[in-house]
Amino acid sequence: MPRMVHVVGAGLAGLAAAVRLAARGANVAVHEAAGAAGGRCRSYHDPLLDMVIDNGNHLLLSGNHAALSYLDMIGCGGRLAGPEAAEFAFMDLASGERWTLRINPARLPWWIFDRTRRVPGTTASDYLAFVRLLYASDDKTVCAAVKCAGSLYERLARPLWLAALNIEPKEGSASLAGAVIRETLAAGGKACRPLVARDGLGPVFIEPALRFLGERNVKVAFGHRLRALSFANNKVVALDFGDDRLTTDQDAVILAVPPMVAADLVPDLKTPSEFRAIVNAHFRLDPPAGLAPIIGIVNGTIEWLFTFPDRLSITISAADRLLDVPRETLAEKLWQEVATVAGLPRALPPWQIVRERRATFAATPAENAKRPAATTAWSNLWLAGDWTKTGLPATIEGAIRSGNRAADLVGRSQLG
Ligand SMILES: Cc1cc2nc3c(=O)[nH]c(=O)nc-3n(C[C@H](O)[C@H](O)[C@H](O)COP(=O)(O)OP(=O)(O)OC[C@H]3O[C@@H](n4cnc5c(N)ncnc54)[C@H](O)[C@@H]3O)c2cc1C
Repeated sequence: MPRMVHVVGAGLAGLAAAVRLAARGANVAVHEAAGAAGGRCRSYHDPLLDMVIDNGNHLLLSGNHAALSYLDMIGCGGRLAGPEAAEFAFMDLASGERWTLRINPARLPWWIFDRTRRVPGTTASDYLAFVRLLYASDDKTVCAAVKCAGSLYERLARPLWLAALNIEPKEGSASLAGAVIRETLAAGGKACRPLVARDGLGPVFIEPALRFLGERNVKVAFGHRLRALSFANNKVVALDFGDDRLTTDQDAVILAVPPMVAADLVPDLKTPSEFRAIVNAHFRLDPPAGLAPIIGIVNGTIEWLFTFPDRLSITISAADRLLDVPRETLAEKLWQEVATVAGLPRALPPWQIVRERRATFAATPAENAKRPAATTAWSNLWLAGDWTKTGLPATIEGAIRSGNRAADLVGRSQLG
């Protein structure tokens, strides 16, 4: 183990790396530019709603094993809420039809042969076409690999890939969609239970990690933006934070910052450089009793409706087209759809809209090909982040796996 490991960036990738290393007894210091940890996965007090909300609704699946192990490690195993079985309520806003997808737990997908469990208007053979994605080459888009039309596409495949890849399937990488299928649907319903941090992302994913680190004497410096790296003899020899400068020739550095920041700091580093937005809207109210915790919506602007104890929240992926729509117009439009799905009055309750412009890198085949490995040309520098080459789309699971991998590589290095 090196003398000290500097983790730069306290998003989930950086926190996962720091937690793993601290658990193994390493000396770790975390440097975060912002005033708080969590990056794109955070909770904060919203003055308009006067309540704590998340920057975005985050859906996990029970097959996200790295995310679940991370939560176990920081003492939050069991803090994600979700149904006992892999059940997804859906509504078609055009036809008013409602159905519930029920995926059986075992790997053998007998649910696709059961009309009451599968998507209405589909046949079992439609689903078998998904298998092609498991073998798709890296240069193919989803719609070049499988048929992007028909009931199965509109009512399940498109919502699934749009949510998982944050890009329209006609542009999205078939191999990333295949990775999602491999780890979820192909692994059976036991890997597909939807899970959410009902108590908020901060209380479940972030604050317990900071406590875990604090208990192991890891200092997390906020407002500590890395400005430059100095290189010599195949190593990072110093970290320049503007006001202070740390010598690192005996140390390891894990850079867990967003891709454009990493590209500025590391010479000749190729990273994804195109992004897609995600829009979330939050409506403060007491949700109606019996409303499903998560509802997928087709033929609407809203795509997923999440029920929290004190609010209803919606998510729209690949939402760049909505970035310039006036907030009031958008809130009114989205609320009308929510009211229809939830059976609520038309009058707009207190609301907030959060638009994350660079929510994830654009999961196209070309951008996916630009994702770098965790190792770099420098012997004491590693990369982490959902945009590194994890084989997964930009997700919590991918971010945590990238942090774990960087930590493991540091542990195996010959430094110190
Ligand atoms: C609205 C939204 C909805 C999402 N929904 C889902 C979902 O449903 N399911 C899912 O699995 N994933 C979802 N994601 C993706 C998930 O949030 C990300 O994959 C994950 O949080 C990325 O973590 P990260 O650590 O790789 O990056 P980041 O969270 O971006 O962390 C990078 C950190 O580096 C810090 N930093 C930047 N520059 C510097 C510097 N120079 N010095 C020091 N620190 C610096 C930043 O402040 C930040 O804290 C969503 C994302 C968004 C935005």
